[in-house]
This record gives sequence, C-alpha cells and structure tokens, in this order.
Amino acid sequence: MTCELYFETGDCDPTELFQSKVVKGRKDYKCCECYEIIPKSKKHESASGLSNSEFWNYRTCNACCEIRDEYTRDGFIFGALWEAMNEDCREMPLDSLDTFSPEAQQKLLIMLD
Ligand SMILES: [Zn+2]
Repeated sequence: MTCELYFETGDCDPTELFQSKVVKGRKDYKCCECYEIIPKSKKHESASGLSNSEFWNYRTCNACCEIRDEYTRDGFIFGALWEAMNEDCREMPLDSLDTFSPEAQQKLLIMLD
C-alpha cells in the first residue's frame, strides 16, 4: 500500500507538503483517475506535494474530482478512485445521481461496470 499518498481528512497528514488547486492546463494532461485526456486550457485539479523527499503531481479531471469529493470523504489514494468505486458500487446510492453535474453522471455510467 502506498501509505505516503493516502490522505486523511482528519488531523493526521503524513505528507510533508501538499497543495491542491484548480488550474487551466497549458498543455494536455491525463487524468490520474480515469486516464482520459484533459485538453489544454480546460480547468482541472492539480495536486502536488512532497512525500519521502519526492515531489509528485496528479491531475484530475472535473468529473473525477466531483465524484471523489462525494464518495471518498474519509480519505483517498490518487489513481484508485475507480477501483474503489467498482468495489463499492453495490452500496452506491444511484438515486442520488441527479446531484451530480451531467459530466460526472456520464463518467459514472462509463466507468462503473
Ligand atoms: Zn478523470
């Protein structure tokens, strides 16, 4: 398990340095969760930090961010959103899908088997 990239929403944060912000890409990026291309100049989340003296940076598209915020309140691992979602999808309140943006709803339908 990659402990160093696990974020607790509580007071314990094993990461030495962490920041997350919404940016407009200056080039194409790949979403770390769904692996889709985030086109240049589209707004997305850029998270970067320093763990064990190594810098890392993860880009997440808006749809994945929205879903991650909703379903992983207890913490998450970058790149593991859809694995976790597929494991838990039976418990998912699918009737609450309308609270998501059309983009995120589309993503859920594509990514969940
Ligand atoms: Zn994505």
